[in-house]
Amino acid sequence: MEINGILKEISVDISPYSGADLAVRSSIDGKEIASLKIDNAAAVEKKIAAGLHAFKEWRDVPAPKRGELIRIFGDQLRKYKEPLAQLVTIECGKIIAEGRGEVQEMIDICDFAVGLSRQLYGLTIASERHNHIMQENWLPLGPIAVISAFNFPAAVWAWNFALAIVCGNPVIWKPSEKTPLTAILCHGIFEKALAEYKTAPENLSALVIGKHEVGEQLVNDERIALVSATGSTRMGRAVGPKIAERFGKSLLELGGNNAIIVSEKADIDLALPAILFGAVGTSGQRCTSTRRLIIQESIYDKFFRQLKTAYESLPGKIGNPLEPETLIGPLIDEGAFAAMQASLAEAKKTADEIVGGGRISGGKFPGGYYVAPALVKISTQTAIVKKETFAPILYAMPYKTLDEALEIHNDVPQGLSSAIFTTDLREAEYFKRYSDCGIANVNIGTSGAEIGGAFGGEKETGGGRESGSDSWKNYMRRQTSTSYFGTEKPELAQGIVFDA
Ligand code: NAD
Repeated sequence: MEINGILKEISVDISPYSGADLAVRSSIDGKEIASLKIDNAAAVEKKIAAGLHAFKEWRDVPAPKRGELIRIFGDQLRKYKEPLAQLVTIECGKIIAEGRGEVQEMIDICDFAVGLSRQLYGLTIASERHNHIMQENWLPLGPIAVISAFNFPAAVWAWNFALAIVCGNPVIWKPSEKTPLTAILCHGIFEKALAEYKTAPENLSALVIGKHEVGEQLVNDERIALVSATGSTRMGRAVGPKIAERFGKSLLELGGNNAIIVSEKADIDLALPAILFGAVGTSGQRCTSTRRLIIQESIYDKFFRQLKTAYESLPGKIGNPLEPETLIGPLIDEGAFAAMQASLAEAKKTADEIVGGGRISGGKFPGGYYVAPALVKISTQTAIVKKETFAPILYAMPYKTLDEALEIHNDVPQGLSSAIFTTDLREAEYFKRYSDCGIANVNIGTSGAEIGGAFGGEKETGGGRESGSDSWKNYMRRQTSTSYFGTEKPELAQGIVFDA
């Protein structure tokens, strides 16, 4: 389907967003697919003020009724799943199976949030004083800003949005400047849900289009109670201190440098496909992409040869991500290609061998940046290996003992996703205990996650958790409340006597 067909099928009017400030390109062929206006400071200010207004109404709507809006939104997403998935693929270049997966993830989080809308449980706490009741209540937080990255142009917003809405908060979304069209369509689909729901306040959801300056305005505005920002560590390092300075809340989901340990006791038939999906899937452009392999030395050379054979067959599977047989689409843009080449040039200085890594030229789309994924054999974890390059580069290193493997594993600044392949229960449990990542998998790869678990990572990955489990608590404020129902003068805590 072409872009006009998609816009027609979803039938969202994009003309209010049109302008000459921002050219939106498809990463498939580099061609312009839309031209948009950037929100200026006054427009952003207006949307923040309107969000605060919406908050004052929405927080008083009972949570299960807020959930009903998300139930309708989930139904709308089911209806438009295919065209939205195609748009995701056209704009960011992930293969169509992953485009569909991204929209499915949005539907899944909507279902989760609907159930959650009846389960925003607090606590009853035993009081040390007679006739006192202590409770912990969770209350809506305030307007929430979501700043998102290009590689999950829809799902990351949905993870935040569905939970924030059932928790009683309006959301202002600043999508990546590389994927704003998907955001406009997602927002338009939500407006269809609003029309069906009928009674929601205006401006419950807003979209601001622009580059980092627009994000900065949201970050600096004290009316924004929580900034949930997904992107590079560089971005997190800029926004984290600014939010902290104004005592705002932040949820940071930043870069990863994810590794898989391959034990000599691994089931190699399980390990190989998982490593390939993790390292070359999404062209290495997932925060959870596999970037490092730590392989037991007794199988290192043999396993590397097997991987090399697999990598050498990949170029035949690279191409138009809309075609179902394609397994690897393009990089997002020329900048991503340049960053990949720079990292490979650096790696070359110490690597034993490099397979792939070049641009696939002469194809149907000269304006797209298609690359052969790179496999790098390297005996030590040098500085370049410790850096996240957002492209398909996989570094393979040997280890002797599991302790040494874990030392190499944890010796990077990031802490998002990790995995071990082993059939030995003791090794698996030892790995889970000592991996310093937010995600630690056994006999499955690092890439991707279900919405049911809390998603996020430690160290430079930012420490945030979003999506499932009790991540919803990020979008509410905790209140401890003590009530007294006796008739005598109430006791003071800690037995303090104060007879005035
Ligand atoms: P990026 O940091 O370039 O941009 C992300 C978003 O932040 C964009 O919307 C951008 O406009 C905005 N931004 C940038 N600087 C800002 C500033 N100073 N103030 C406010 N907003 C600012 O990231 P990208 O290239 O779009 O995405 C790739 C990165 O995102 C990778 O590092 C990847 O690992 C990370 N990522 C992390 C997760 C996660 O959940 N941990 C998920 C997806 C992507």
